[in-house]
Amino acid sequence: MQPSIAVTQGSTKFCWICGKAVSLDDCKTDEHGSIVHEPCYTACMRLKNADENKKEIPADFPAWKERLREDCHLQGRHYAFAVLGDHVLQLLWEGGLEPTVEAVVDAVRQDKPN
Ligand SMILES: [Zn+2]
Repeated sequence: MQPSIAVTQGSTKFCWICGKAVSLDDCKTDEHGSIVHEPCYTACMRLKNADENKKEIPADFPAWKERLREDCHLQGRHYAFAVLGDHVLQLLWEGGLEPTVEAVVDAVRQDKPN
């Protein structure tokens, strides 16, 4: 088996993110001590953070509903929240929807094309 991560050839190090050689000038080590390019590492961290932000959906319905209520309030769109009953909101939450006005409005539009 060929080693695919942190391959070393003599003094040349390879970035495990993009697989290209890393010169000593832009060499950086990540949290695991592996060699990476500074820009590759930054991009990788940004992706990780984006993933974490996406998973910010509350695990319980009351918290989700509260977040949505706040978003409706911030956007001055109370009606969007008021017209949907708890039953519909709970279905949207179970579907893993983000508690935002946009996400809910989009989802409801798709359900009712008229
Ligand atoms: Zn790289």
